[in-house]
Amino acid sequence: NHSAHYLGIDFGTSGARAIVMDGDRQIQSQITVNFTGKQDGEMWRSALFDLLIQIPPAQRQQIQSIAIDGTSSTVLLCDHQGHPLTAPMLYNDSSGAGVLDQVKAIAPPHHTVISTTSSLTKLLWLTQTTPLPSSAPSHFLHQADWLSFLLHGKLGASDYHNALKLGYDVENLCYPDWLQQLEVPVRLPEVFTPGTPIAPVSAEMVDRFGFPSHCLVCAGTTDSIAAFLASGASSPGEAVSSLGSTLVLKLLSRTRVDDARYGIYSHRLGDLWLVGGASNTGGAVLKMFFTDEELGDLSPQIPSDRPSPLDYYPLPKPGERFPINDPNLLPQLEPSPENPVEFLHGILESIARIEARGYHLLQELGATPLTQVYTAGGGAKNLAWTKIRSRHLGIPVTPSEQTEAAYGTALLASSQV
Ligand code: ADP
Repeated sequence: NHSAHYLGIDFGTSGARAIVMDGDRQIQSQITVNFTGKQDGEMWRSALFDLLIQIPPAQRQQIQSIAIDGTSSTVLLCDHQGHPLTAPMLYNDSSGAGVLDQVKAIAPPHHTVISTTSSLTKLLWLTQTTPLPSSAPSHFLHQADWLSFLLHGKLGASDYHNALKLGYDVENLCYPDWLQQLEVPVRLPEVFTPGTPIAPVSAEMVDRFGFPSHCLVCAGTTDSIAAFLASGASSPGEAVSSLGSTLVLKLLSRTRVDDARYGIYSHRLGDLWLVGGASNTGGAVLKMFFTDEELGDLSPQIPSDRPSPLDYYPLPKPGERFPINDPNLLPQLEPSPENPVEFLHGILESIARIEARGYHLLQELGATPLTQVYTAGGGAKNLAWTKIRSRHLGIPVTPSEQTEAAYGTALLASSQV
């Protein structure tokens, strides 16, 4: 259906973006809104409506389905009508650290919810510190759940990507016994497969934005999974390396791998698993020594087909989790040659070595062997680095087809993933 359009909406850390995609996966519009001031429900709502109103009306009328992604573990409490009762707790908010012992007491050892920033920790903290209305049940929702609710009006639906860090059992598709036994004074969301239609857009949204009345709002996902989906990776063995401030690896696998020692965990993706690990090395170290302009000028001068003799472990500060678990690991950036091209070559080569070691570890722990690596993030455009990485990985390395999370979420809405 060539006139069918699909809308993906991404709520990231610093702004929100909408992408309208047609049935041939071509982008028809792309709209960005930057966040200003403090994030709360009111601000999210106006950012969402701001994006929607900027989509050309003729395209809005063609939209068959919509999905929204949000930052993982960004949550809030709302009343039975969906009005926020609290300011949202953002992905990196660790003010619930005081209840971590309670989380440890109920969750299985090494579970991914055992963290000061997990959704479960935030749930316990919020319900113990927020006065709740007694007249009707309150709801606990993730950012993407609440924003989707604004569109379809059905309160209490989530997806199993957002719900992973709440403790949802993605293997058996249920809340595990230990979580069901937990007595919290709020309702937890019903959890759906990402991309599943939840409900049509509400009459109010049809009136306001001119969506077709059959337009469906689908269960969403998290921003980092959406970015993975955008890459075009879809077969077991395909992976995406994100070369941003940190180095994040995600490998599509037939088998699930979880290892708390290295911070490795798996998201479910249909019948497959998305196995991920994150290193503290990455662009933040490059930024300490080079401007983006210098990186652009110096990189083409690197003899990328020859290995650098420099063996570094670039870190912005001591401590590493993956692929080496050592909270005291020291940055290793010596000796530093006078020639900046040689120094940069040494750093890029060393990060490439860590990337290869990371994929090696994921496979050693049982993930499907690597066949192809796509690249996202600020380092993706660096061709010299791509060659160096391909040499270390021994397989093709290509830039991602698309890197915008909103594109991945539009694919999810079109059920093409
Ligand atoms: P994040 O969103 O994680 O902060 P980005 O994906 O925006 O990061 O990437 C920013 C990083 O990319 C910076 O740390 C910067 O040093 C690095 N970077 C920018 N240009 C280049 C380049 N040409 N080669 C390698 N790295 C680069």
